[in-house]
Amino acid sequence: MTATQAAPERLTLSAPQPLLIGGREVEADRTFPAVDPSTGRVWAQVAEGTTGDVDRAVAAAQAAFETWRQTSLDTRQALLWAVADRLTQDAGRWPALLATENGRAIREGGLIDVPTAAEIFRFFSGIVRDLHGRTVPCGPGAHVFTTPRPVGVVAAIVPWNSPLISVAHKLAPALAAGNTVVVKPSELASVSTVEFIRLVQGLFPPGVVNVVTGFGHDVGRALVTHPGVAKVSFTGGTETGRRILGDVSDRLVPSLMELGGKGAMVVCPDADLDTVTEDVLTGIFAANGEVCFASSRLMVHRDLYDELLERVTVRADAITVGDALDPATQLGPLVTARHRDTVAARVETALSEGAELRAGGRVPLMPDELAGGNYYRPTVLASPEGTTSASCEEFFGPVLTVEAWSSEDEVAERVNRVAFGLANGVWSADLGRAYRLADRLDSGMVWINTWFATPLGQPQGGVKASGFGREGATETLLEYTSTKVVHTSL
Ligand code: NAD
Repeated sequence: MTATQAAPERLTLSAPQPLLIGGREVEADRTFPAVDPSTGRVWAQVAEGTTGDVDRAVAAAQAAFETWRQTSLDTRQALLWAVADRLTQDAGRWPALLATENGRAIREGGLIDVPTAAEIFRFFSGIVRDLHGRTVPCGPGAHVFTTPRPVGVVAAIVPWNSPLISVAHKLAPALAAGNTVVVKPSELASVSTVEFIRLVQGLFPPGVVNVVTGFGHDVGRALVTHPGVAKVSFTGGTETGRRILGDVSDRLVPSLMELGGKGAMVVCPDADLDTVTEDVLTGIFAANGEVCFASSRLMVHRDLYDELLERVTVRADAITVGDALDPATQLGPLVTARHRDTVAARVETALSEGAELRAGGRVPLMPDELAGGNYYRPTVLASPEGTTSASCEEFFGPVLTVEAWSSEDEVAERVNRVAFGLANGVWSADLGRAYRLADRLDSGMVWINTWFATPLGQPQGGVKASGFGREGATETLLEYTSTKVVHTSL
């Protein structure tokens, strides 16, 4: 989609979105509204699942597991590929749906999410035949081999910011490894998941993939604590992750946790400023800054601090904020008014703590038809010593904090001081220096002279408060299996 194309018509779905249980569409007694963040308008109604629905979905997944686990790897390979094909053939309607759902600008989400989700299914289709055990040399008196076993019913809990991609990251490896799944989408972005599973569920035996929509504290909690669930695969906030781990601790349910982040971009004195400027803008303002990998902390060597701060400020001020459905929009509304207000309040706190406002920091005046939207200007805070809360808290919005540093020891210590450890980056013309710094940064990922590069095969995931487990890579398959060993005395 290019900026010269016309905006698509606003979507309104007339029939409520159903639950998907055991291969059937199930109506719920109650629904809750899906609200378009660009306008505040209700555009769909979503089934509000109950604990009874969770019971039925888990039972359907348990029943389906008995046959799905026996399917050959080539069957799974073909079906995962077919999911990607179906999604790609259906690509046309997704950009408008995704932009309406969470407010991400249509020129981004439409271009990225569908091909990425399809590629995730193709990736796991490609590697599924590599799911095998090994023999273990234990001497002449024994024959020992291992097999990877599927774990059973996986509870897949996903957030609202890139729903299609998050669901694909969970479904594809879980199904490839022979598990069945109950998905609980975010209450803020349920429609895309329901529509996606509706599109592809007929490829699978009934009950292999199920969706229960509803609220986290209610059906989400009922799902992760259900005795029939063998694995929790969660992507979302760190606090929610902690709560879930507490809830599943008595049953010792293995869990994959993809949690929050506070990404730092470390800019060395020999970095190329043109490249850095573009990367900074993408790193913090793409997807409204509502990305776990967002680079919300720009840490610039003191030699470049003033110049880079000025460049970034000028560019942030020039960003077009608007209706997510408008192809000219560069930064859409935040997902809810409540989230926008939280972001705004955090900015105010940082200012009261001594940060200096360089750009944004305000709700823009919008035309009447967008007055109900959750808009917030791209914001740049200067905090050279990194002493305010803006240097350690995840905003999950379009807010960049710019800091200055003098020595590698200092910057490494300051980056690592935060609780999170998801993604950091280093910009330098000197690869030796870049590798040295990359080695010292405590995060699951470090990018050098780039940001957001996540080709499939490259494991994604964090350390510390950003969670554990890896998605999008070969080792992800093993997250959804347990190893069984068979030892024969000869
Ligand atoms: P959230 O934690 O509020 O919700 C995530 C999901 O958990 C939703 O489906 C919600 O309904 C459900 N949930 C809430 N309480 C629950 C409970 N007690 N039991 C079971 N399920 C429950 O997160 P969000 O606001 O949807 O997403 C934003 C957060 O997600 C940010 O912190 C972001 O960094 C993180 N995130 C991380 C990654 C990653 O790969 N590390 C990717 C995307 C988003």
